[in-house]
Amino acid sequence: MTGFDLETTPIGVSSGTASVLGLVRARLMEKPTTAHVLFGEDCLRNCSFCAQARGSKSAPNHLSRVTWPRFSWDRLKGPLASAISARVLKRVCVQTVECPNSQGPALAFLRQVRAMSPSVLLSVAVTPASVARVELFFAAGATNVGLPLDAASAEIYAKVKGGSFEGAWAVLEKAAARWPGRISTHLIVGLGETEEDAVRFLVRAQSAGVTVGLFAFTPVRGTAMEKMSPPDVGHYRRVQLAAYFLKRGGDAGKIEVNDGKIVSIDLDRPGLREEILSGKPFETSGCLYCNRPYYTERPGQVMMNYPRVLTANEAEQARKESGLA
Ligand code: SF4
Repeated sequence: MTGFDLETTPIGVSSGTASVLGLVRARLMEKPTTAHVLFGEDCLRNCSFCAQARGSKSAPNHLSRVTWPRFSWDRLKGPLASAISARVLKRVCVQTVECPNSQGPALAFLRQVRAMSPSVLLSVAVTPASVARVELFFAAGATNVGLPLDAASAEIYAKVKGGSFEGAWAVLEKAAARWPGRISTHLIVGLGETEEDAVRFLVRAQSAGVTVGLFAFTPVRGTAMEKMSPPDVGHYRRVQLAAYFLKRGGDAGKIEVNDGKIVSIDLDRPGLREEILSGKPFETSGCLYCNRPYYTERPGQVMMNYPRVLTANEAEQARKESGLA
């Protein structure tokens, strides 16, 4: 036994992860290097973009545009152990829905995976409710805790998520001070923010030592925002460039904004120009090895986040899409 009801809890496994583990048969165009699993359903919160929200009418077993077939721990543990030891999967990330039956099994799962491999990178994404809760996940073996804020500004946060943006930031900043380099967050680009809002968010995260994973908003059928469009690709590319520039130690004062839009970034750091030309800023961002293929786009559409190194043509195209010289 695991000390909790993990044996009787169905575990959502992202369709890409399930395929890598041989639990479902599907041909993958890009393979995930992080396993994503999901605990809980029917969230108590009501984020307008989320398929698991209280008011959402989305099909069950969805989060973003990904389906999460459910498996028992018994079925999952063997293939997961093999994929971790073969280094096919280099990180495991536990997504939790805010509901009464998610935290206990998620903690039990973390303990089991940590016992399986003392060295595998292990993340969890939870609502930034309190520092005490973050501590529980670290004590269970997580290497990183993701506290998604999702929205770039207080106004957007209140509108699409509800609750206190500053309260959530306070948890994030306290946790980052206590566990340096081990706290991350998510920013969903395309919820109505200006590029200036996004830059302000990124600068605040950078100065707190918080890693940011960028997501492009994806309208999901059945959610309150199902009729909204994904962000303009130029908007997304400029935010990616600003995020990369700041991550590499760039000075926020070198990002020039006009009327809410990024108009230039003065690349004053050695090597940065070459990294941008090679397409680095347009790769999936967030925790190391979290490549999330097709999490927010369909095959054949513009790749907002590349789950791998870009080809020279892709890098050139993405740089052009940014509209920046
Ligand atoms: S960036 Fe990836 S691995 Fe890290 S918390 Fe977010 S989804 Fe999980």
